[in-house]
Amino acid sequence: MRADPLHYLSDELESLKQQGLYRQLRVLDGEQLPHATFDRRSVVNLSSNNYLGLTTHPRLRQAALEATERYGVGSGAVRTIAGTMELHMELERRLATFKNVEAVVVFQSGFTANAGTVSALLNKEDVIISDALNHASIIDGCRLSRAAIKVFAHKDVDAARKILQDLPAAQRKLLITDGVFSMEGDLGPLPALCDLAEEFGAIMMVDDAHASGVFGRQGRGTIDHFGCHGRVDVQVGTLSKAMGVLGGYVAGSRSFIDFLYHRARPFLFSTSHPPGVAAACLAALDVLESEPRWMEQLWENTRFFKAGLADLGFNTGRSESPITPVIVGEAERAMEMSDRLFQRGVFAQGIGFPTVARAEARLRTIVTATHSREDLQFALDTLGQVGRELGVV
Ligand SMILES: *Cc1c(COP(=O)(O)O)cnc(C)c1O
Repeated sequence: MRADPLHYLSDELESLKQQGLYRQLRVLDGEQLPHATFDRRSVVNLSSNNYLGLTTHPRLRQAALEATERYGVGSGAVRTIAGTMELHMELERRLATFKNVEAVVVFQSGFTANAGTVSALLNKEDVIISDALNHASIIDGCRLSRAAIKVFAHKDVDAARKILQDLPAAQRKLLITDGVFSMEGDLGPLPALCDLAEEFGAIMMVDDAHASGVFGRQGRGTIDHFGCHGRVDVQVGTLSKAMGVLGGYVAGSRSFIDFLYHRARPFLFSTSHPPGVAAACLAALDVLESEPRWMEQLWENTRFFKAGLADLGFNTGRSESPITPVIVGEAERAMEMSDRLFQRGVFAQGIGFPTVARAEARLRTIVTATHSREDLQFALDTLGQVGRELGVV
């Protein structure tokens, strides 16, 4: 018998275990709810991106069921061959109106939207100027493009300016930031970055995955929140977080979106959404427009929970969104805290290197519109207890 050529992977996994970074998948039994059952334990769920509770909203369920009845479970092909359904086109038109742009293209996920767009837009002659904490899918898109990547310190507009100043005027460049940073919960400095992009003739790109349904009028995102309409050339959003379903999209000018139809590889070479997914996304837009109470409740819960964490004395960084990190230091401590919380009925995922810096391992908490006050108070009380036991507060 030949030796297992994948043997080296066991060593890698062993090293993850030694660093306290090895993770078992938590398995959800039933629906993705603010109080849910994972690994047979009933917990207050502070780990989903289901900001508005739309994963189980009756209008979305109904839309998915009806579309599945009428059109079947799959689209049968990639968009550019036989897999474009009227539902896909309708979703793109609706999103374009929602985002106040000429056109939108929908991808299978936010990840493929970013990776496919950046790699299509640039090539090895070009330069990307990217925030140090931008999402992994942006980083992969940058690498796939083979452009030079210049990273500026998180939110440091002056540092970005210095990079831009040193580049030739004729150089094609892309300035790129997250709208809401997924591990910190803070916002990209959009107005100042738009100023820079205009001054230096850079393409301006914002990934608004955590902002759609959370910031701006009716959840239009950080571009709307900051009043930057018309100043961001490439906007990326996701349908997988607050929208409660699955997918990503890119918003911009008509010719830019036409270009992506021809050059974005995940669009060209990977099958389009099942009709039930597209229909549920359309219903999610209906809900955003007609049921403002979910966003209001999300922000009310966010204020309550953040105030509670501050009273307990936790280091919560500089969050400005419903994502609130509880920063505890080394990864082992974060994982220990997460485990103890889980045993006592609170699910807050521990996050360590390489997702965040080594000394800034944390629990990431996300409140949603559908958490009850009792759930949030119970989570705060339990966080306080475990935090004191481990000397975090
Ligand atoms: C979650 C996330 C994505 C990926 O979105 P999916 O639809 O889950 O693939 C992209 N960018 C950022 C900033 C994200 O937080």
